[in-house]
Amino acid sequence: TTGSRPATDTPVTEWIRVVGAREHNLADIDVEIPKRRLTVVTGVSGSGKSSLVFDTVAAEAQRQLHETLPAFVRGFLPSFGHPDVDMIENLSAVVLIDQRRLGGGARSTVGTATDIAPLLRLLFSRAGTPHIGASDAFSFNMPAGMCPACEGIGVVTDVDMDAFLDDSRSLNEGALLAPTFKVGTWHWQIYAESGLFDPDKPIRDYSEEERHTLLRGTAGPVSLEVRGQRVNATYEGAVDKFLRLHVHKDGGELSDRARRTAARFTTSLPCPDCGGARLSRAALDCRVLGHGIAELSAMEATHLLDVLATFDLPAVAPIVEALRARVGHLVDIGLGYLSLDRPTDTLSGGESQRVKIVRHLASTLTDLLYVFDEPSTGLHARDVRRLTDLLFRLRDNGNTVLVVEHDRDVIAAADHVIDIGPGAGVDGGTVVFAGEVEALASSGTLTGRHLRARTRLKGQVRRPTGWLPVVGATLHNLRDLSVEFPTGVLTVVSGVAGSGKSSLVHGALRAQHPDVVVVDQSAPTANRRSTAATYTGALDPIRRAFARANGVSPALFSANSAGACPACEGTGVVVTDLAFLDDMTSTCETCEGRRFTQDVLAHRLDGASISDVLEMTVGRALEFFAGNRSVAPILRALADVGLDYLQLGQPLTSLSGGECQRIKLASHLHRRGAVYVMDEPTTGLHMSDVARLLEVLDHLVDERGSTVIVIEHDLDVVAHADWVVDLGPEGGSAGGRLLFQGTPSALLDVPDSHTATHLRRALG
Ligand code: ADP
Ligand code: ADP
Ligand code: ZN
Ligand code: ZN
Repeated sequence: TTGSRPATDTPVTEWIRVVGAREHNLADIDVEIPKRRLTVVTGVSGSGKSSLVFDTVAAEAQRQLHETLPAFVRGFLPSFGHPDVDMIENLSAVVLIDQRRLGGGARSTVGTATDIAPLLRLLFSRAGTPHIGASDAFSFNMPAGMCPACEGIGVVTDVDMDAFLDDSRSLNEGALLAPTFKVGTWHWQIYAESGLFDPDKPIRDYSEEERHTLLRGTAGPVSLEVRGQRVNATYEGAVDKFLRLHVHKDGGELSDRARRTAARFTTSLPCPDCGGARLSRAALDCRVLGHGIAELSAMEATHLLDVLATFDLPAVAPIVEALRARVGHLVDIGLGYLSLDRPTDTLSGGESQRVKIVRHLASTLTDLLYVFDEPSTGLHARDVRRLTDLLFRLRDNGNTVLVVEHDRDVIAAADHVIDIGPGAGVDGGTVVFAGEVEALASSGTLTGRHLRARTRLKGQVRRPTGWLPVVGATLHNLRDLSVEFPTGVLTVVSGVAGSGKSSLVHGALRAQHPDVVVVDQSAPTANRRSTAATYTGALDPIRRAFARANGVSPALFSANSAGACPACEGTGVVVTDLAFLDDMTSTCETCEGRRFTQDVLAHRLDGASISDVLEMTVGRALEFFAGNRSVAPILRALADVGLDYLQLGQPLTSLSGGECQRIKLASHLHRRGAVYVMDEPTTGLHMSDVARLLEVLDHLVDERGSTVIVIEHDLDVVAHADWVVDLGPEGGSAGGRLLFQGTPSALLDVPDSHTATHLRRALG
């Protein structure tokens, strides 16, 4: 195993003491977290790790911070509720480093998010020739530095005429296809009723000039009639108007919906003026030792570090030194294949989390509490050591590091382990072990037993029923790759981060075989009313059962009916939009979180109200509905993917990425003969849950005749595969090659594969 680097020899003198924690399923527990040490909290999914770490410790730290704000500022914020805990002593200010994607729209890049970009600009403003002035002159986010043609975005967006306009229709028939211009709307009226066009004439019969006026014209003021009133409006061509409303706003102002609308009707091209580099001509022409800023920003971090090593510039030595240190952190954490100009909205959740770590490594603040959510997500076994080294570095800077994690090697590196369990939901919520990892391994807990267990190859692999060829894939770093994916078996695609797994599976395979079903970790819906019960379809037969038992209409038990609590629209919570902060959710005071009116709650099914049922976990509901042949199979599928601890009414927005992926998987379990693609399905799963996940995948293959292709780092999953496609050898330009395709046992003999090396180690 990866060795742990022990903390300093001095004994722990200070502890964060949590007394009487009862959030969600926590059983009134006391927990002690050593300060300035690395503590890993582990346990099966649903045991209560997040309830302890995020909903109790981090929430209380944030609440206390909020209390320190002036009353005037607090007046604008909703009051943070106390977590359900008696006391927490010795807390520090908390820094939460989670897997949420980095926001910031098109203007946020790896360089800006890690604060490396400002250093690079400083270098060019001090040492660049010709000398062109202040560091703003090198910033694509500042007027002084941005390319005037694309305003620093690097791409220019124009409408996709085929999607935007149907030439064969007239304005009255809806020739302008975007919803913005729907027939009858205000924006439609400006064109159809302005008197400038014949609203019944198909667009293809327009003159050149009419067409230009419609799409790009500036015809000045027009007068329209709206509900019997004359109003004046300023005319603007439909294309310009659409781009102004949906594209040219600052990214932060656009709702997801507006963004999706824009994407459907537009195409993006690299900016013709700056070639995508975002910067003004003057900034692009400036050189430091022959290198331009755009060139350095486009290099992979590994390569950039080599170039910086040659920068012998005494006048700006401290700047170069700081740059080397930061770029070095990027490489250290396994992101050496990323370039500074990479937009952060193209990064995966795991990559986003590691980029956030880089920013904090440069911080000189001490005595902070850093909280991480499964930082090993997306990391190959080869890179886990680098991750733990960075966690040690945060610790050795004088901070307390608290990590929720399942990875054996991360657990092994901890100074202190807290194991929550023994089971999930009501069967969990207690501390089953707290202490050093050596003692955990010899304890009888589930985690302890799995820590010692060896990975094993299975006796026999399945025979493929056919092949799905992928030919000549060149997306991103793929080197003209041709791969055959076997059907009717379980395939694992492996390789270090950045080696090209997603590009192969989500790019090339899907492009060549569009009928594959992707079960990914994105939230399945954006609707706040969606719950585990509505999404899986369990709620419909449950509502029918209530209706039958009470002689009323099933619609009464729906969150968008008159039976729902009007104050919270049947969600049980009210959400306050805090603009630049995260939304605040609090229990609805009208229904006390029960979601429905008193009349509806009076209707019972075997003694339970609809609200009682929505509060049941899947496991409990499975007992309650055991006799209901419509409800039980849906609940069983949820239990099969390891979600028996979820509450039926739990909003989908509260689910983690791993949980989202498994709930989607559950809704597919009845399909036959599909080709499934999954991205690290073990995310969020304890070692003991992985075995259950493998049973589900086996079920899909054996009982449903499906093909399952997963991108995965977990070596137990690699060992369980029928077929492995291994990419590498490294990330980025040093990757993108096919190292191996074949059975796991044949993989063991491949010399240059990191996966082979680590699989051999795991097999022991
Ligand atoms: P873990 O992090 O170990 O997977 P959690 O702390 O997320 O476990 O969950 C512990 C229990 O609390 C589970 O039964 C879960 O369903 C419940 N739970 C978690 N979040 C919520 C929530 N927002 N509302 C209601 N129950 C929740
Ligand atoms: P993996 O899935 O193995 O981690 P990826 O397929 O995500 O690897 O990445 C392979 C290479 O392609 C890397 O160099 C990565 O930086 C690059 N890449 C991936 N997605 C994008 C993107 N949206 N834009 C530019 N480069 C990308
Ligand atoms: Zn440009
Ligand atoms: Zn309510």
